[in-house]
Amino acid sequence: MFETLKEQPADKILMLMQAFKEDPREDKIDLGVGVYKDATGNTPVMRAIKAAEKQLWEVETTKAYTGLAGDPAYGDAMIALVLGDAVPRANVAAAATPGGTGAVRQAFDMIKMANPAARVFVSDPTWPNHLSILKHMQIETVMYRYFDNETRGVDFDGMMADLDQVRAGDVVLVHGCCHNPTGANLNMGQWKELVALLLKKGATPMVDIAYQGFGDGLEEDAQAVRLIAKSCPEVLIAASCSKNFGIYRERTGLLMAVSNDASRQKMNQGTLNYLNRQNFSFPPDHGARLVTMVLTDPALRADWMAELEEVRNSMLGLREQLASELQRLSGSDRFGFIAQHRGMFSRLGTTPELVEKLRADHGIYMVGDSRLNIAGLNKTTVPILAAAIIKAGI
Ligand code: PMP
Repeated sequence: MFETLKEQPADKILMLMQAFKEDPREDKIDLGVGVYKDATGNTPVMRAIKAAEKQLWEVETTKAYTGLAGDPAYGDAMIALVLGDAVPRANVAAAATPGGTGAVRQAFDMIKMANPAARVFVSDPTWPNHLSILKHMQIETVMYRYFDNETRGVDFDGMMADLDQVRAGDVVLVHGCCHNPTGANLNMGQWKELVALLLKKGATPMVDIAYQGFGDGLEEDAQAVRLIAKSCPEVLIAASCSKNFGIYRERTGLLMAVSNDASRQKMNQGTLNYLNRQNFSFPPDHGARLVTMVLTDPALRADWMAELEEVRNSMLGLREQLASELQRLSGSDRFGFIAQHRGMFSRLGTTPELVEKLRADHGIYMVGDSRLNIAGLNKTTVPILAAAIIKAGI
């Protein structure tokens, strides 16, 4: 039977990680994989998470199964974090999932169950795993224009023109904040226009929010998802705790299905439970429990928020430094977009050939589409990268 299997395309980012590992150059710089790193190149366990783990070890008396949707306290804490008081709690169905990826996958499954003919509109570009999961699930996917290669901002007119084709029953997938891979985001006025279009067309928004707290702040980064949730009759939200709690390997995510008709909540919740049951039964608990402890204990929460702010500000500082170094070397403002982008990534908007040149000549690793992980830099490597960018003629 196995002889019928075909080779699957290798994940480009994981291949890049491997190539970096094998590169003997000591001054190599990894700007590839989307993991936060501090100035020493370490991905730390956050202080509040470490403290919660210690407490948990002492107080946890069982590892028996939780519920199919995970511990309800986790759902409550995360719904409050993401949605604030934008919608009544009674309108939200939620299930814990293995990471944000698990939430994305379950959301697509729910879409398929609800409307097998639904098309999913995704930004061009988007996180590659969106495309690969949609393809695997044989869901029709339509790209909408998003990144303007000239300004390195959002091509909002192009986006709205492309989304004019959506029909009732289609789904429009957006990144709640800190767009991956470009770093370019809509402003609130543009979010409002998008919401008006979705309402006019009767399309359902799906929000992937994997970087809350990495852009303009925990509350600020949730403004778009809250606007969408309170304005649209239905919305799916896939949230990840991997980055903002630094618990990548614990696989901690939450899928929310919000309906402005509270009578639908029971059916939505039953569907999310059912989908978890079909795919993996009970979701992982360890990361979810830590997140719940951090969010509900005032001291842990305050420390987590403080550390998240340090992380966010360190990335903003690196953005400012890189943009001004490039301005100094190029004598122009054409790299100003790096300081405007938000989150862990920026897309330089250059060719795969020049990305390869940076790797070959300087040991600088970034994704082929010219996405660079800002957090992979530090004060010392910023001038090295800036000089290499100018030397390569980008
Ligand atoms: N969505 C986006 C846009 C992401 O960038 C990521 C992480 N790379 C995820 C979802 C999911 O992350 P995880 O499964 O590690 O929680």
